[in-house]
Amino acid sequence: MTTTSVPPTLTSGETTPNDPAPRTTSRPDAATAPASALDTAHAQLAGAVRFLGYDDGLHEMLATPRREVNVAVPLRRDDGRTVLFHGYRVQHNVSRGPGKGGLRYSPSVDIDEVRALAMWMTWKCALVDLPYGGAKGGVSIDPRCYSEAELERVTRRYTSEIMPVIGPERDIMAPDMGTSEQTMAWVMDTYSVNQGYTIPAVVTGKPITVGGSLGRTTATSAGVVHVTAAALDEAGVPLSDVRVAIQGFGKVGSHAAALFAARGARVVAVSDQYGGVHDPDGLDVRALFEHVAATGSVVGFDRADPVDNDALLALDVDVLVPAAVEGVLDGDTAGTVRARWVVEGANGPTTAEGDRVLAKNGVTVVPDVLANAGGVVVSYFEWVQANQAYWWTAEEIGDKLEHRMLHAYEEVASLARREELSLRDAALVIGVQRVAEAHQIRGLYP
Ligand code: NAD
Repeated sequence: MTTTSVPPTLTSGETTPNDPAPRTTSRPDAATAPASALDTAHAQLAGAVRFLGYDDGLHEMLATPRREVNVAVPLRRDDGRTVLFHGYRVQHNVSRGPGKGGLRYSPSVDIDEVRALAMWMTWKCALVDLPYGGAKGGVSIDPRCYSEAELERVTRRYTSEIMPVIGPERDIMAPDMGTSEQTMAWVMDTYSVNQGYTIPAVVTGKPITVGGSLGRTTATSAGVVHVTAAALDEAGVPLSDVRVAIQGFGKVGSHAAALFAARGARVVAVSDQYGGVHDPDGLDVRALFEHVAATGSVVGFDRADPVDNDALLALDVDVLVPAAVEGVLDGDTAGTVRARWVVEGANGPTTAEGDRVLAKNGVTVVPDVLANAGGVVVSYFEWVQANQAYWWTAEEIGDKLEHRMLHAYEEVASLARREELSLRDAALVIGVQRVAEAHQIRGLYP
């Protein structure tokens, strides 16, 4: 592994005395607690703002969500009991267009996590030049513990609570962790029934039969593979020569595994929240899909050895794809990474401290706002198609996606080369600058 060519990052990890970014609210002891997703998002923004030379007023504008909705989501359980969840929708920025971002169901969802995820959506949409702002939603529920009928009731209640702030021209949801195309069908139906007619463009990532786009299911993963190939190409390494480990075998990780394998890469390890499996000769990804369909987890796949999630991060591979949760590569775990490339399928998997350690060790990080943007790119295609009621072929979608991803990669890589920035810093500088320009050209009302 080389240890020389990766530039240091702009994030200091410390907050400067006059850092105007709002402080997190959920951490009792900020001095000792691990970095939250919002800490990471604020540190990244502060680095881009410093590079761009913006003043404190603009920094605060960029750091602060335009609108936050905080709702109670009561559920009548199948057995008649009532339980209550907390739901959130944060529209971080809408200067370039309507809010856009996923809906997450996870017991650990809180307002600060949703704020961080919404902020990353803003920079991501600007980076791949979509006419959207950034938004995110979440409900503090563990979807594995509830029946399908209960999840439908939670989704419909959450949708009706946030109804005034969503819509095809206001804020458009998509699946994220713990939600699926079925969830999006329920959101669309609830919204449409209340408006009195069918409005497919209120969500993306919905089933094809109700206006979903071909290629959306695999879009995030396809984008991950496109930018991985581009990053490897800069080093003269073909995709077919690399060994890949993927953390998370959900919507992003599983299809990434299949697409990496289809392009000749050796997928040697994958994991989910229950554990992982490892075969240095390469996993049979098709057989793994069958095992997961039958058992609900990669654990127990008998044609590989078990590996835990921390050990997976430290495997001797070329490419590591974190595709699960935030903050897994922190100051400690980042030091164990032996991969030469980390390609962020997940949002926020690397803390500011983790970034510094990876840079010091010569690991190239292809950042989340670039690497996993394929999902929102095809969501945009889905929204355009739904608005026009005209559908493109899978080939058209695939070609347009690849073009957008490679163009965005090239923009980021050339700024990084020119200014000696990391790919993350270059991506954030481009995204933040585009949003700031929209603010400035629109002016301040009144
Ligand atoms: P998912 O719910 O489909 O899958 C999540 C996977 O992560 C599951 O395999 C789960 O078991 C695993 N996991 C959960 N907690 C874990 C832990 N602590 N350690 C290891 N594995 C764990 O979610 P998804 O849609 O694949 O999203 C994964 C990540 O990708 C999230 O960060 C999400 O925000 C991001 N993302 C998703 C999309 C999309 O289109 N779905 C687009 C962009 C970014």
